[in-house]
Amino acid sequence: RRERDLAVAMEPATTTDGHRVEVVANIGAVSEGARVADVGGEGVGLLRSEFLFMDRRTAPDEDEQAKSYRTVARALGPDRILVIRTLDVGGDKPLPYLDVAAELNPFLGERGVRLTLARPELFRTQVRAILRASTSGKVAMMFPMIAKLAEWRAAKALVEREREALGVAPIPVGIMVEIPAAALIAEQFAREADFFSVGTNDLTQYTMAMDRTNPRLAPQVDALHPSVLRLIERTVAGARAHGRWVGVCGALAGDLHAVPILIGLGVDELSADIPLVPAVKARVRSLSLAECRETARLALEAGDGTEVRAIVAQRHP
Ligand code: PEP
Ligand code: MG
Repeated sequence: RRERDLAVAMEPATTTDGHRVEVVANIGAVSEGARVADVGGEGVGLLRSEFLFMDRRTAPDEDEQAKSYRTVARALGPDRILVIRTLDVGGDKPLPYLDVAAELNPFLGERGVRLTLARPELFRTQVRAILRASTSGKVAMMFPMIAKLAEWRAAKALVEREREALGVAPIPVGIMVEIPAAALIAEQFAREADFFSVGTNDLTQYTMAMDRTNPRLAPQVDALHPSVLRLIERTVAGARAHGRWVGVCGALAGDLHAVPILIGLGVDELSADIPLVPAVKARVRSLSLAECRETARLALEAGDGTEVRAIVAQRHP
């Protein structure tokens, strides 16, 4: 029985009508890389690289970073994707050695790619380390907190420069869609970016203007709010227009209520915390794409997240 369960966990996640959904994992430590395959994870959809930079007095150098990324890439092997997100600190996650000015609204402040673009040496070092590690696996890179095309272009240009200097082959370079400004013009981004990964945690916070860390608001910061779902729909449409793929790496990807909706909206890849991967795969296998499309259509018309949940509970018990 146990062996059979294990064998099933390793199978791809395909709907009852034959639609394949990639199910991958979010990780935040080098050691987690080796656990992904054990739970049936088909890769890593989000490596939060912050762990390498926290709890220390100086930033890790290029060699140290390259070694860590390479260790994860090797643990995943040549066939499992590893999407490394560049440093996403600033705002509420300050680093003592970065000397960021205090901000009145940290979540609207100099965080994510805004911060790394303003510190080219820090950014360049990380990009070079990722590119060097890319020769050891199926590595991709993405930038957090993209709002403007100019940010994407500057970050992408830096990657191209370093890639040519290092003489390594091109890798997929994508953006996190976690700011409504990016979701709304996803089509324009999709002309240039190789893929999208929707960060529903921040996307929800910025759509609803509710701080995700505020305990009084947290229960209301609902990623199933139809406005968030409409932004995901728009992101997928933009990606499709240019043949790009879309993942979801926010917590919504691991929410079993959300899985039918995300599949129905056309999301290609779900990236959830390691312990959730087997349940997400099992959920995908229980659904049909045709029914998910109808569920998604109904969810987009709903009035709030509670209604969306009721629709899912009724259609996919
Ligand atoms: C997100 O915002 O959904 C996301 C995946 O990034 P983080 O939670 O690390 O901000
Ligand atoms: Mg985020």
